[in-house]
Amino acid sequence: MNFPQDHTGAIEGQPSCKAWTSRAVFDVPDKFSAYSQYTDTPSGTYWCTARTERSASGEFSLSIGVPYQHVKWFRGRETTARATSNCPDPTCCKRPPEALTAEWAGNAWPSARAHSHLLAAMPPGAFPGVDETEVYSFLQAHSGN
Ligand SMILES: [Zn+2]
Repeated sequence: MNFPQDHTGAIEGQPSCKAWTSRAVFDVPDKFSAYSQYTDTPSGTYWCTARTERSASGEFSLSIGVPYQHVKWFRGRETTARATSNCPDPTCCKRPPEALTAEWAGNAWPSARAHSHLLAAMPPGAFPGVDETEVYSFLQAHSGN
């Protein structure tokens, strides 16, 4: 699998694709069951399962996954959930949509509360640890436009 990495090849502290199970699980209402999903990527199809846990510093997810040909060994392989990831292509989820960027780039100066980006040798993005699409979407939703 093509894990996100910085210019030195390190994967620590790099945000994963929004379409991956480890992030998609946060939008699943059922917090008591594991969430499984097939994800089509440029390097093939993977099956992953994830669940969320709570800690003093917030919610996090734990996940494992395998290439499609090995899924026969795992409970949860019967899932019909499917997603497509085009990462590391920046247009997949790393770069906000053009319309949001045109409206909000330069007008917001967010900073992250979570410190996962501190693990990164080369923190990604203009605002390390901040998902610009989420910030711009929030601003757009509250702007009355
Ligand atoms: Zn992505």
